[in-house]
Amino acid sequence: MIKPERNVSSPTPYGVVGIAELTDPDSRDISIWWLGNAGFAINWHGRVLFIDPIIELEGDDPLASEIGLPLRGPLPLLARNVPRADLVLLTHDDGDHTGPRTAPELVARTNAVFVGTERTARKLREYGLADDRIVVVHYGDEVELAGLTIIPTPARHQEDEGHTVRGDCCGFILRGPGATIWHPDDTDLLEQHLAITGIDVLLLPIAPHVLGTHGGIRLCASTQARHIIPCHYGTYVSDVYWCTGDPEAVRAGVENAEERYHMAALGERWVVENRKPRIESP
Ligand SMILES: [Zn+2]
Repeated sequence: MIKPERNVSSPTPYGVVGIAELTDPDSRDISIWWLGNAGFAINWHGRVLFIDPIIELEGDDPLASEIGLPLRGPLPLLARNVPRADLVLLTHDDGDHTGPRTAPELVARTNAVFVGTERTARKLREYGLADDRIVVVHYGDEVELAGLTIIPTPARHQEDEGHTVRGDCCGFILRGPGATIWHPDDTDLLEQHLAITGIDVLLLPIAPHVLGTHGGIRLCASTQARHIIPCHYGTYVSDVYWCTGDPEAVRAGVENAEERYHMAALGERWVVENRKPRIESP
């Protein structure tokens, strides 16, 4: 296993996701890796899931992301190296969530079923995905896929600026043996969010144009999530507004942050075991 490089000049030290560990069909663990931005990979008792992976490059430069921004460090995993996946959950069709290169790579290289709203599905069809590999979801659905229950949650993403309308984007609750995990998506804090509890691991986008620091802190409190991994920050060398989330400011407002709030390194493996995660170097 490769130990993550603790690069002090970067707020997100990075490592390498072990392909064998990620795709191990016999794993008895629930393992989570942060992939940068709002992206995660999960091995859930052998099933391989992705949420919002942006893990491809513009060309040969390992620091030139597929979305035209320079990366702070090398990506912990490249889509071109992923041999197997069961589910790819996409919260919305913006380029920093449905990667213009990642999505087509995963479409071509895996047999994964892709899950998202109708607007996301349209983008996937443009990328060549056949309809029989797309599951379109709506708020209030409960979909059984790969042995897990997938529950889309409402999201409101810059609706006031005409960016999306309600229904174009969604979060995902993943419920299965051993844990319940929630990725709320890029969203304003909604009343419905405050009613969601029973979350073991909250994958929390903290970019300022959506939940931001204040919304992130409120969600950590209302869900009483046992563990929180912040995301949507620290991935690109850019001061564009959606890159400027402040994970330390969120931490300062989270009760019992030492136990619950985990700023993951890119590529670091988190194992949810007996509802208590342990960290393993990738
Ligand atoms: Zn975003």
